[in-house]
Amino acid sequence: INDFGVKNEPVYEYLKGSKERVELEKELKETAAKTEDVPIIIGDKEFRTKDVRYQVMPHNHKKQIAKFYYADRDLLNKAIETACEAQKKWDMVPIPERLRIWETAASLMASQYRAKLNAATMLGQAKTIIQAEIDSAAELIDFFRLNAYFLKEATKYQPISENPKITKNSMRYRGIDGFIAAVSPFNFTAIGGNLAYTPALMGNSVLWKPSDTALLSNWVIFNICREAGVPPGVVNFVPADGPVFGDTITASPHLAGINFTGSVPTFTRLWKQVGENIHIYKNFPRLIGECGGKNYHFIHPTADVETVVNGTIRSAFEFCGQKCSACSRMYVPESLWPKIKEGLLAKRAQLKIGDPTDPQSFTSAVIDDKAFKRIKNYVDHAKKSPNLEIIGGGNLMTVWATSSNRRLSRPKIPRIKLLTEEIFGPVLSIYVYKDNKIKETMDLIGTSTSFALTGAIFAQDEKFSKSAVEELKMTAGNFYVNDKSTGSVVGQQPFGGARLSGTNDKAGGPHYVLRWGNPQAIKETF
Ligand code: GLU
Repeated sequence: INDFGVKNEPVYEYLKGSKERVELEKELKETAAKTEDVPIIIGDKEFRTKDVRYQVMPHNHKKQIAKFYYADRDLLNKAIETACEAQKKWDMVPIPERLRIWETAASLMASQYRAKLNAATMLGQAKTIIQAEIDSAAELIDFFRLNAYFLKEATKYQPISENPKITKNSMRYRGIDGFIAAVSPFNFTAIGGNLAYTPALMGNSVLWKPSDTALLSNWVIFNICREAGVPPGVVNFVPADGPVFGDTITASPHLAGINFTGSVPTFTRLWKQVGENIHIYKNFPRLIGECGGKNYHFIHPTADVETVVNGTIRSAFEFCGQKCSACSRMYVPESLWPKIKEGLLAKRAQLKIGDPTDPQSFTSAVIDDKAFKRIKNYVDHAKKSPNLEIIGGGNLMTVWATSSNRRLSRPKIPRIKLLTEEIFGPVLSIYVYKDNKIKETMDLIGTSTSFALTGAIFAQDEKFSKSAVEELKMTAGNFYVNDKSTGSVVGQQPFGGARLSGTNDKAGGPHYVLRWGNPQAIKETF
C-alpha cells in the first residue's frame, strides 16, 4: 500500500506455463492472424471514410494488424458537436457513479482484457512482454484507479463555513463546457488512456486522436471503456491527419483544452493556433503538453560501475530508447570510463534484438520507417564527425557515440547534435569529462539543451548527491539518484518536465485530474 492508500497494479512475470502466459500466447496468435477493422466512433455511430490507413507491425511491415480511417473536417466537426452535447449530460452524472465506471474499466483491464491489451501493444508497437506489461497493463490500470482515487480525495475538501447555519460555503468540481482534444503518442498505450479518459473522469467530453502507430491498442482501451459504461459521445475515437485535426479543433469556439503528448514542433503549432484564435473561444483553453527530453545520466567518480552499466543499458536501449524519459546523454569521469565502456560493451553483446514476442528479446524494431530514417541520420552524422568516436553499434539499435574531452573544448559542446537534440531512438551519447571538472560538466547539463524532463546522478558520495539535487534542480522534472532515468510509476513518481519538455502537469500525480476541472464555489446564505 503506497502513501495514497491505493495499491499499484502488480506486474506479472509471464513464466512459461503460467496462466497469464497461456492467455497471452493465445491472444498474440489471434491478433497476428487478422487485420482488425477499426471504425471512427462519434457518439454511438461508426464511420468509415475513403481515407484508409493501415497499422503494420514494426518488426514485420508486411503484416497489417489494423485497418482504420482518417476522419475528415466534416466528421471532426460532427464529433465536436456530439461531444459538446454529451458533455452537458455527462457532467450531471454524480462523481461516485463516474468513479464506479473507472473502477470497472480498471478491473476489466486487469483481468479479462489484460492479454488483449498486451498483445495489441506487443505486436502493434513492438514491445516485449515486460515492456508491454508495465505499460498496457500496470500503468494503464494505475491511471484509471489512481486518478479516480485522487478525484475522490479532492472532493473531500470543502471550504470553511464559519457559521454553517447562516452561511454555508461549498465547492464542487465540474467539467468545462466544450470539448477537450486528446492527442496521444505511440510509445505508451497507457498515455493514450490517460490523455483521453482523465479529462473525461472530471466531467469533460473528448475527441481522442490516437497515434496511427498505436491504433489497435488504443482501440482496445476504447472498447473496454464503452463496456465499463462510459456513455456514447463522452470519448469520441477519431483517428485523423495531424494538421487537419489541429486546424479543425483550434478553429472551434468550443475548444476547452488540449491534452497532448508528442513533439515540441506539434505542440508549439497547436499553442500558436490557439493564441491566434483566442478571441473566438468560450473558455481560455487549457493546454497540457508533454514533449520529450534529452535526458541524462551524470556519473560521479564515486559511482558504482555495475549500477551505472545496468541502469544505462535499460534506460537508453529498452524499447529502442523510444521513451520520453530515455537516457540519451551520459557524462562519465575519465577515471571510470574504461570500466564503464567495458561493462556497456559486454552487456550489449548479450542483448538479443528481435521479434517482440520472443521472450528472449531485450528490444525489437523502432516504430516505423520515418523513425528509422531520423535515427539513421543521427548515426550517419556521428560517423562523419571527426570529434566523435563510435563504440558498439554496427546496427541501428546499438550505436553509441562517444565524445572524448581530449578532442572537444567546452564551447563546442552545445553544437554537438548528439549531446543536445532529442533522437528518440537507441543512440546514447557519452561525454567523458576530466575528474577535476565536475562543476563545469554539471553546468553543461542545464545549458546544452532546452529540455528538462528526466535526469539521474550516480554517486556513492551522499554529500555530493544531496548537493547535486540542488545544483541540477531546473534540469529535470523527474530526478533519480542511483537509479536510471526511466520507469516512473503512477502515484510513485508523478511524471513530467519543464522547459520545452512540457507544461509539467505531472501525469500520475494527485493534481493532474484537477487540471481538467472547472470548480465552482457556492456560498448559500439562509
Ligand atoms: N513514464 C515513462 C517513464 O518514466 C515515460 C513516459 C514517456 O515516454 O512519455 O519511463
